[in-house]
Amino acid sequence: MNRLRQSLTTVLTGLLIGVGAQAQAQMSQLQVAQVQDIPSLPPLQAARTTGDSIFPALGQLGLDVLNYDLTLTVARPGTSELRGEVTLTLTATQPLAQIQLDFFGPTVSAVRWNGRPVVFRSDIAAQKLLVVPPAPLLPGVEATLTVSYAGAPGIVRDPDFSYPLELGWQSVPGDEASAGATRAGANFTLSEPNGTHTFLPSNDHPSDKATFTTRITVPAGFTGAASGVQVSQTELEGGFQTFVFRQAQPIPTYALAIHVNQFERVESPAVPVGVGGSPVQRRDYFPVGTAQPTREAYARTAEMLRVLSGWFGPYPFEAYGVAVVTPQLPALETATLSTMPVTSSREPVALHELAHQWFGNAITPADWSDVWLNEGFATYAELLWAEAQGQDGQAIAARWMDTLNRRGTRPLVARTPEQLFDTSAYQRGALALHALRVAVGDDRFRAFLQAYTARYSGGTVRTADLLALAQTQVGPEGEAALKLWIESPALPALPILP
Ligand SMILES: [Zn+2]
Repeated sequence: MNRLRQSLTTVLTGLLIGVGAQAQAQMSQLQVAQVQDIPSLPPLQAARTTGDSIFPALGQLGLDVLNYDLTLTVARPGTSELRGEVTLTLTATQPLAQIQLDFFGPTVSAVRWNGRPVVFRSDIAAQKLLVVPPAPLLPGVEATLTVSYAGAPGIVRDPDFSYPLELGWQSVPGDEASAGATRAGANFTLSEPNGTHTFLPSNDHPSDKATFTTRITVPAGFTGAASGVQVSQTELEGGFQTFVFRQAQPIPTYALAIHVNQFERVESPAVPVGVGGSPVQRRDYFPVGTAQPTREAYARTAEMLRVLSGWFGPYPFEAYGVAVVTPQLPALETATLSTMPVTSSREPVALHELAHQWFGNAITPADWSDVWLNEGFATYAELLWAEAQGQDGQAIAARWMDTLNRRGTRPLVARTPEQLFDTSAYQRGALALHALRVAVGDDRFRAFLQAYTARYSGGTVRTADLLALAQTQVGPEGEAALKLWIESPALPALPILP
């Protein structure tokens, strides 16, 4: 994510609060509908959550979602009207007598367990969908859970309340025809950290990564796009078409991209920087009418892929590109398809979101308190790219240091929602890597980064894992340099490149 560079105006704040009030009214209607639809079910003991340090209510301990097969119909793009059906392939790491998905979305009409109807309860206050399977789900056993739903997605406010943002399913109304120009309605996901369960019943915590098949049905003239590789596009009767995408490598739920708009899909030559030198498919989605300066922010993506894979090792997915959106929002590194507002369409932001494909999407924090492992690495990637353009990396590090001195700082493991995306997560996190590089030299730093991605790509990580790897890969001096920047209450001295 890249929200530090955003400067939201008072006008926008007012706009978002206005939208929020309207959405709140919709939600209270939705709640009434859901309460009436609850089938009779005895009270349930709440299952244990993942116990996240920042979001203790998210997820279910012991639940392991392997795959989401999601079918979404967006009949009227730009409105919040949504129809969905998702089949989760589940297993468990401990016996589970009930399944407790995160869900704060449209009204649920049916739930099936291995294809058969099963009782369920929507607990709106807890933002959970509770399901009792016919028999407990046991470790080593796979089951499918299918949820059908329709209506308006819920509203999850960004946990950093100083930032006026509603997470999850975004609806951007189209313009009425005026002066000959129209803009189509659009929808897209913007979920980090906890917005995905506004439109998808899910184990909405980064410790449970999964693969996705996403099937998006939209009216003719619109394009659906999602994380992963497009596998088909089918015309339906009645003026609709369905786009199907497969995300074959596991990603965290917050990184799932879904976009609906009148898009121009621009393909570019594949870049052979994937695992084993495999080609990385390149496609960008620009809303029809996107201005040339916006497109130019993405003109150097192939070169960025080459420079970053030179430091970080193979690009971890099969495709990369961006989907541009028109609202003024933070950019977000949605998997294989970064979500880029027009207002963030600048080269350093493009580079930052690309770097998150390694750090965040392929290697994912197992607890939200460790999100600096995403933001620090993506921020440091900006310095590495600038150096590749002949700029002075040390001067960039010095500017980060000035910012931290001015704004204050903290140890890197976050303790509150407000700290998740603060200056320390980004710039102190980046300086921790700078300190490691200065301590061990470029060659060993590069080898360390590649050992880290080789070890943890596809999985999850904690700060302690990074330190343990430093100990074995670059020895005590590297580990000590990192540890000082991770743990010291005060700001350590600026490390200087030789
Ligand atoms: Zn970021």
